[in-house]
Amino acid sequence: MSAADQTKKVPPITGATRVFAIFGRPVGHALSPLIHNAAFAAAGEDAVLVGFSPSPKGLETALRGLVAAGCAGLTITIPFKTEIVPMLDELGDSARATGAVNTVAIGKDGRLTGHNTDVDGVLRCFERLPKRPRERAVMLGAGGAARAAVAAMSRAGISQLAILNRTQAKAEALVAEMAGKGAGPMMLEAVGLSDQSLAHHLAEAALLVNTTPVGMYPRGDETPVPAALLRERLDVIDAIYRPDPTRLCHDARSAGAAAVSGVDWIIAQGVVALKYWLGIEPDEAAMRAALTGFLSQRN
Ligand code: NAP
Repeated sequence: MSAADQTKKVPPITGATRVFAIFGRPVGHALSPLIHNAAFAAAGEDAVLVGFSPSPKGLETALRGLVAAGCAGLTITIPFKTEIVPMLDELGDSARATGAVNTVAIGKDGRLTGHNTDVDGVLRCFERLPKRPRERAVMLGAGGAARAAVAAMSRAGISQLAILNRTQAKAEALVAEMAGKGAGPMMLEAVGLSDQSLAHHLAEAALLVNTTPVGMYPRGDETPVPAALLRERLDVIDAIYRPDPTRLCHDARSAGAAAVSGVDWIIAQGVVALKYWLGIEPDEAAMRAALTGFLSQRN
């Protein structure tokens, strides 16, 4: 279907249009409205997703008010992913495993269920990698994206994960929080990030997951891992979605490995959110086209 045909299918916004929301602070740079509205348009759904930036103190009032006013579902982004948890009625597996929520589904009875579709996003990144046994992995970073990646790696069958972080205490806190809980049976090790620790742990690993912002636009020439440490059989999942491919993904592919970028991750988490909200299998290609078109215009 051409873009013009798709535009014709988009219903006008009326009083009947269902409204979804994203909460973030700031929210102006969030990409979820772009991909979700593209999915609504492609599916001919009479729905729109718009951004709100409540103050931290006003988060619960904003949540209760929007739900009372008939909001159809929410996306939650930084800094509210953990703060929203106690305000919800129940948590899905992914939210329980991470203690963080990026998607709120609203039941017919008004009950609020929190999910973390970043976990599903990383799992779908695994599906894009060659099928082979992977025991050891290295993850760079110990922030919000890292939590989701830990839960997903455990589900994907990784048995040993070294978490390398600039601030070692933060990696240790993540291990303490997730070992035996959200990380399941996966063994976790917290390591301070250095040239030596990186080389040592990567030598044993079959997978590298980058959850640091290193390599993100406008510093797309940077990489968290020197090309000399990359090799065949060291596949890469990179959270960074701009540029696409990142230098890390490019270097990994040049070394003969497979690499999946943050574009796949961000689309996959949105696909799963739409399933929770509307029960639809959204048009992933339309979501991807909206995202990559938008990002390429801004390069
Ligand atoms: P975060 O909570 O702020 O955590 C960032 C982590 O990266 C921290 O562990 C931090 O280490 C480390 N870090 C930051 N700058 C670094 C540097 N220059 N060198 C080495 N380590 C550094 O952020 P987040 O929410 O996890 O997000 C991380 C990145 O992933 C962001 O760029 C975000 O856009 C991206 N992301 C993408 C997706 C997707 O769908 N593709 C989803 C989530 C996040 P310290 O502890 O030492 O500060």
